[in-house]
Amino acid sequence: MAAERHGVPRLSTGDMLREVRKVGSEVGLAAQRTMDSGDLVSDDVILGIVAHALDTTVAARGFLFDGFPRTVAQADGLAALLEERGDRLDAVVSLDVPDAELIARISGRRVCEEEGHVTHVRSVGESTECPRCGGRLIQRTDDEPDTVRRRLDVYREQTTPVLEYYARSDTGLTVIDGMGDLDAVAARLEEVLASARSEIVT
Ligand code: AMP
Repeated sequence: MAAERHGVPRLSTGDMLREVRKVGSEVGLAAQRTMDSGDLVSDDVILGIVAHALDTTVAARGFLFDGFPRTVAQADGLAALLEERGDRLDAVVSLDVPDAELIARISGRRVCEEEGHVTHVRSVGESTECPRCGGRLIQRTDDEPDTVRRRLDVYREQTTPVLEYYARSDTGLTVIDGMGDLDAVAARLEEVLASARSEIVT
């Protein structure tokens, strides 16, 4: 949503990995096993797919990364990639949501097998039919409760230091409240992005 509003491509490393997985290559299958366990895919693989995306995506007005960087090594790798390209980060945003709400959101998420549309049991109940295209709704393996708990532990161990890393950097870190409905959270995010971009333009 935020990416569309700013006319910039959204680069989600999770989505990119799911695409790599579909191809069934060795790297894809190894990534699948790691993702299904709730652990992080290796920094080398992630930085490789991000470098490829930066080289192949048309993005005159920048990018919006989603779910990346998740480790300090990835943040360092991103800094090197941006420097090579003469680019820089405008803003780093963290959405703050308590664990109980995250578990409810993630374990209730349903994904359409045909088109990848994302919905939630809060909207569709137990229906297995995608409301947008009629495709079959499934739960991602890594959205099952045990894996979600593992993902939260991994986040605390490996991703929390990234927040500290950016808080100390010149770019800085903006933490926004991720509670409330989608429109309210989107409005908070929009405020941060609009102000970061206006500082660049002016
Ligand atoms: P997501 O769709 O962003 O929740 O990511 C799903 C899974 O993909 C994660 O639990 C990780 O296993 C893997 N993944 C996505 N992005 C990254 C990243 N930046 N670094 C390492 N693993 C990642």
